[in-house]
This record gives sequence, structure tokens and C-alpha cells, in this order.
Amino acid sequence: MTRPRIMTGDRPTGAMHLGHYVGTLANRVRLQDAYECFFIVADLHTLTTNIEREKVAQVNQHIRDVVLDNLSVGIDPERSHYYLQSLIPQIPEMALIFSNLVTVARLSRVPTLKEVMGNLSISEESLGLLSYPVLQAADILCVRANLVPVGKDQASHLEVTREIARRFNFLYASEERPVLPEPDTLIGDVPTLIGLDGQAKASKSLGNAILLTDDAATVEQKVRGMYTDPNRIRADIPGRVEGNPVFIYHDAFNDHKEEVDDLKERYAQGKVGDVEVKRKLAAAINRFLDPIRERRAELERNPRIVEEVLAAGSERTRAESAETLYLMKEAMGLMWGAQQ
Ligand code: ATP
Ligand code: MG
Repeated sequence: MTRPRIMTGDRPTGAMHLGHYVGTLANRVRLQDAYECFFIVADLHTLTTNIEREKVAQVNQHIRDVVLDNLSVGIDPERSHYYLQSLIPQIPEMALIFSNLVTVARLSRVPTLKEVMGNLSISEESLGLLSYPVLQAADILCVRANLVPVGKDQASHLEVTREIARRFNFLYASEERPVLPEPDTLIGDVPTLIGLDGQAKASKSLGNAILLTDDAATVEQKVRGMYTDPNRIRADIPGRVEGNPVFIYHDAFNDHKEEVDDLKERYAQGKVGDVEVKRKLAAAINRFLDPIRERRAELERNPRIVEEVLAAGSERTRAESAETLYLMKEAMGLMWGAQQ
């Protein structure tokens, strides 16, 4: 029986954090049996924002980090396929075809473009940054995925993927027998995890996140420095629970629900200090991270694990992508050799 397909993945721009977990990794773990999963390590995508030689030089290390982070949360590489974007030659070819199915004006309106340009102080976007969602459409459609589990920041990109698939099918296939599926988006339980500093998004580039590889002492130290209700200057002042990062993290990571309810109640009444709230949060996050740390230590006993996983997954994805590209060209009538 063929299972529906999942495709999603990460840019190798740094070690992964709790935001990645609740935004997308948790869904990958949960759905790895019900779906056939393809996970990309999108190395070419890093170039859109990290083109300097020193940054490119870090990609190899980050490929390793990202694959180990994925496996350490409990994704089984025997059941899922991890592929390295630059090892799939069909992806750029598909992206080139897709670039004719979407307008520059449409891509200019993708909200993340302005956000990234603002965050990184980019005054004029490169062609690569503008067409980021087109390359991403190729990443997804090369394996004809049905479902894409991502954090909320990716939702607008997936809209472009769906539009490209729809346009391709409209031009070259029939509604009853589409060549490219229009994949659904699946947003995580926490669509965007807030940063430790209260910034909208926990992000590796802002350094406001707890990494999956942080040790217990680092977690304690980061939690101690977390932003809470700024109006609460003393423990006996009633505090705001709603939207408070400390309680957002308690809700997401503390498995002792009665403890969380009790803390929230006392916080709102001004009957608990930040120290206790944070001490219990750090303990909860460390409980959550412990099995991840153990699995990682186990994985690191095989120094070739990342190479092996990426080689097998990339080979499988190349075969799948070659078939997709064949089906696309067949539908388009772009098969000069075959018609002789
Ligand atoms: P970069 O700044 O390099 O783009 P990133 O932290 O956004 O890094 P990505 O590799 O782009 O990481 O994203 C991997 C996945 O994690 C995506 O599905 C993204 O939506 C999700 N994600 C990233 N940050 C968060 C967050 N704070 N909360 C929820 N999901 C997130
Ligand atoms: Mg990102």
C-alpha cells in the first residue's frame, strides 16, 4: 500500500532549537509512520541570505548539526528519507521551469521577503532571494508531496507552491489527472514559538532560543534570563499570564500540567516569585531534553551516520525526482529525444 507523502525540512544555518521542535519536528515524529517522509537539508537555500565566503564555509558543519538534531528527536532514518538539496540535480531544473509559472509581482508580495530584508538590512533583494519560494516549490514537488508540516512563517511560501502546481496542471494536465499534487500545509501545535527575549520568533540568528543541544546548566541560565511580565517588579504584584513567554514555554514543555495550573493561579494573584516559576520551567525543559540528549549521544557513536543517512536519502530522492521530471516533461510535450 502506498502511503501519502510528507515533505519538509531545514536550512543548514545553525543548530536547531525548541521553536523548530514545536513548529515542525514534533509533527515529523508523530507522522513518520502514517506517511512516507522526505526531509530536505536545504543547503542551496542558505545562499539566499548567507552568500559570504565565511558563511558558506559553515554550511558543512550545519548540515551535520541539522541531521543529528532531526534524528535525536526520534525520527527513524530507516523509515524516512533525508536528502541534501544540492545532490538532487532535478531540483534546479524544475525550479527553472516553475519560474515561468509565477510572476515577479506575485513573489514581491510574499510577506516573508520584506521581513527577511528588514531583519537582515537588505535594501535590494537578489534574484535568488526573490525566487526562494520557487526553489522551495521544486523541493516539495520533486517528490510529489501531499502534506508539508512547517512553522507558521512558512505558510505564505506554501501558497506559492500550491499556485505553481495548480498552474502547471491547468496548462499541461487535466483536473482529474493532475501531474503535480497541491500539497496541504500542516502548522505545528505552537505555530511560532516566541523568543526567550519576548521577540516574536525564537530564532537561531537572534540567539534567543534554547537549543536541542544545550546542556542542563545552559538551559537554567537561559531560563533565568527570560523575559516575563515587565510590570511585575515584586513577587506580590499580580502578574500577567497571557502572552507571557515563561508561561508559553510552560504550556509547551512542562508535562506536569497541575504544576503549570498552580503556578499560573499563584502568579495571577501575586503569590509566587519569578525564581520559582523559572526554576520549575528549567527543570521541565531539561526533563523534555533528556531523552533527546541520550539519543544524540547514541547516534554520535557512529561518526559516519550523517553521511550514510544523506547518501541513502538523496539517492532515493533523485530517483523520485527523475520520475517527476519525466512526468512533467511528458505532460508538457518537452521530450524531443523521445519523439524521434
Ligand atoms: P533561518 O533564520 O536560517 O531561516 P529558522 O530558524 O527559520 O532559520 P528554518 O530552517 O528556516 O529555521 O526552518 C525550519 C522549520 O522550523 C520551518 O518549518 C520553520 O517554519 C520552523 N520554525 C523556525 N522557527 C520557528 C519558531 N520560532 N516557531 C515555530 N516554528 C519555527
Ligand atoms: Mg527560516
